[in-house]
Amino acid sequence: MLKEEDDLSWYARKADTLRKGIAVERAEDDADRAERVSSLLEALRRGGIKGSLERRTLYTRHLPPGCRGCLGGKGTNAFVTGLCTRDCFFCFNQKPRTDELVVHGIRLAEPEGAPEVVRRYGLRSVGVSGGEPTMRPERLLRLVRALRTLPFRVRIDLYTNGDRLSDALLSQLKDAGLDALRFNLVAREFDTEPVERALRYFDETAVEVPVIPEQLAKMKDMVLRLDALRVPFLNIHELFVCRENSARVAEKGYCSGGGARDALLWEPVAAADEAALSLLLFALEKTARLSVYYCSCRTQQDISSRGMQRRLRLAADARRRDSATRS
Ligand code: SF4
Repeated sequence: MLKEEDDLSWYARKADTLRKGIAVERAEDDADRAERVSSLLEALRRGGIKGSLERRTLYTRHLPPGCRGCLGGKGTNAFVTGLCTRDCFFCFNQKPRTDELVVHGIRLAEPEGAPEVVRRYGLRSVGVSGGEPTMRPERLLRLVRALRTLPFRVRIDLYTNGDRLSDALLSQLKDAGLDALRFNLVAREFDTEPVERALRYFDETAVEVPVIPEQLAKMKDMVLRLDALRVPFLNIHELFVCRENSARVAEKGYCSGGGARDALLWEPVAAADEAALSLLLFALEKTARLSVYYCSCRTQQDISSRGMQRRLRLAADARRRDSATRS
């Protein structure tokens, strides 16, 4: 039987109130920036970038395996806890932070409830995140083990800042069946030590960060170091503003780039697309192995729309089945 909270995604249910809470100025139209973005796009096209320039779903070599299910609308998030060891200015987590397990927008009392949610919605990839999921290691391990009891293969990626990722936990996660890790290196001021350690356990140790325009030089240096370390994937995001981070994003002097995003609760920061394209072009020209993927707000809008349509369709099918059984 479907519960009322299952009918719409977490984001869709909160959309109206959350979007109204974005308290950041909108940037004026900037013809110079538009010209620079257009030059970057042309240089990327000439350099052989893959994907869609228009939708800004772009990658230099390969699409990360964990992103395939997500791009098809069959991915979801499992928030192990809202608690975190850091306080990044761009963090979109709800404040005050809560210590709850939420899978596909549904609060769960026990991790062992997760496989039923994944099965019910036909999902094929789960991004396990938080907060910092390693702050609740037992809950995290139980979740991964529970997902591995499903009779079909689900892709499981762990998002972490690396602060609490010991060798023992890496080994347990490997045994539990985790596929890959994605590190937020901006949270640790680009310290690659946890990435180097994780590479000893997981071939697919990746990095996933928003591109911070004022830190572009450090981010280019990070690209070169990750390439030298033979990290296979770097995922970059367009820095965005949402209700939860808007005060701190505004403090940094950023404005919203605006644009109606029906299925998103956030808006891109005005300077963010240019910074991300610039980092992507740098990676295209300067790396030997690293594959960089740009998951922009436009891409996230497409993913979110697909996911919501799919979720509504499945909920309607389930309701039809329920009423057929009752009659
Ligand atoms: S590490 Fe992640 S969850 Fe923690 S504050 Fe930074 S962005 Fe938020």
